[in-house]
Amino acid sequence: QAHLDRIAAVDGDIHAFLHVSDHALEVAADIDRRRAAGEQLGPVAGVPLAIKDVLVTTDMPSTSGSRILEGFMSPYDATVVARSRAAGLVPLGKTNMDEFAMGSSTEHSAYGPTHNPWDLDRIPGGSGGGSAAAVAAFEAPLALGSDTGGSIRQPAHVTGTVGMKPTYGGVSRYGAIALASSLDQVGPVTRTVLDAGLLHDVIGGHDPHDATSLSDVWPSFADAAREGASGEVLKGLKVGVIAELPDSGFQAGVSASFRAALSAMEAHGAEIVEISAPHFEYGVAAYYLILPAEASSNLAKFDSVRFGMRLDVPGGTVEDVMAKTRDAGFGDEVKRRIILGTYALSAGYYDAYYGSAQKVRTLIQRDFDAAFAQVDVIATPSAPTTAFKIGEKIDDPLQMYLNDVTTIPANLAGVPGISIPSGLASEDGLPVGIQFLAPARADARLYRVGAALE
Ligand code: GLN
Repeated sequence: QAHLDRIAAVDGDIHAFLHVSDHALEVAADIDRRRAAGEQLGPVAGVPLAIKDVLVTTDMPSTSGSRILEGFMSPYDATVVARSRAAGLVPLGKTNMDEFAMGSSTEHSAYGPTHNPWDLDRIPGGSGGGSAAAVAAFEAPLALGSDTGGSIRQPAHVTGTVGMKPTYGGVSRYGAIALASSLDQVGPVTRTVLDAGLLHDVIGGHDPHDATSLSDVWPSFADAAREGASGEVLKGLKVGVIAELPDSGFQAGVSASFRAALSAMEAHGAEIVEISAPHFEYGVAAYYLILPAEASSNLAKFDSVRFGMRLDVPGGTVEDVMAKTRDAGFGDEVKRRIILGTYALSAGYYDAYYGSAQKVRTLIQRDFDAAFAQVDVIATPSAPTTAFKIGEKIDDPLQMYLNDVTTIPANLAGVPGISIPSGLASEDGLPVGIQFLAPARADARLYRVGAALE
C-alpha cells in the first residue's frame, strides 16, 4: 500500500510506470495469509517489484514501449516474472522504456518520457529509465531491467541506483521481447548491492526455454554481497583501468568521482593496474552494426498478423497492411535501426559492415581475456556524463550512441557488469556510478566488490 501511495503521489511527475497493477494488494494479502499459516517463504516474499515492460506478463499489458504492441496481453509469463511470482515478490506494475529498448534516455518511448527523480528536467537513462526512476523515487524497492548495451547500468548511473548485467546466459531471456538476442540480458535494478543479489538469486539459473541459458549452478549472490560488505575482499584485489579509454568526452565530475573511488579502494588494499584494451572504444561502432542487424530480424515478427496493431487498409493487399501498420506502429529510432540493420546484412555489404563488426567483437573479447589474465576486475566510469537534459540529444543519434561507450563492450563479450553509485558530480550535484566488469561466470565477484565499496 505504501508503494502504491507513493506511485499515486509522484508518478504523475516522474512517469516511471506504463501500467500499475490493480491486484498487487491481493497478491500481497495472499502472501501474508500463507506466512500466517506457517508456510516457509523465501527472503523476498511480500516485497514489491517493478517490471520493465520488455518482459511479458499474463496479468498486465506488455508493450516494450511501442505503439505497435499497445494493449498486448501475453499468453505466458517471462521466466524471470514466473520465478519472481513463485518467490512471493509482488508485481507493482510495468515500467517505461525506450521503444523496443533502443535508446539511452527513455525519450524514445511511444508513451512519453520518464523524468529523473533527481531533476525532473533530466533523463533517467535508458532504455530502462522507468525501472531506475521507480527505484530512485521510492516507488518500488526492486525492479527488473534488461541490458543489451547498457540499459540496466547507465540508468543506474544517472539515478544513483545499483544495476547489474549478469553473464550472458546467466538469466533466462524467455519472455524478454528480443532486441538483439546475442546481447540481451535481464537483471536487477535496486538501491543496494545486497538487494540486487537477492533479486538475482530469484531470477537466475538454467532455463530449458532459453537455448542460450547456461547450465551452471550459481552461488548465492546475496551471500556474495554479504561477504563483500566487510571490505576484506579489497585487500590485494587487482583492479584494472583501461589505458586507452580517452579522458576526453568524460565530464570532469564523472572522472573525479571515478578517481576518488579508485583511491578509496587503494586505501583499503586494492592494487590499481593499468591494462591495455585497445579495441574497447570500438565497441560502439561494432555494436551499432550488430544490434541493428539482429533487431531488424527480431522485429520482423511485428507484421500486423501475429502480434499487436493492425491497420485497416480498404482495398489494400497483405503487403499494404503490413507496410502501413509498421509505418504507423514503429517510431523513428526503430525505423532508423531496421534500415541500418537490413543494409548492414544485405548482399554486397555484409562483409564490409556486419562481418567486420563481428571481427571487432572477437577482438574485444580477446582484449578482455588478456586483461582478466592480469586483473580480477576492470573498473570504468559507468557512463561519460551525468543525466543530460530531456531533449538535449534527441535530434543527434550519434551523440546518444556515444553515451554507451563504457557499457557496450560487456555485452559484446558476454561478461557481467555492475554499476554502483560512486557519489555526486561536483559541477551539477547529480549521481555518478562506477562500473566493474568481471570474467564470464564471475558475477559473484562483482557482488563482493560492489558491496565492499558501498
Ligand atoms: N543505449 C543502447 C541502445 O540504444 C542500449 C540499449 C539496451 O541496453 N537495451 O541500443
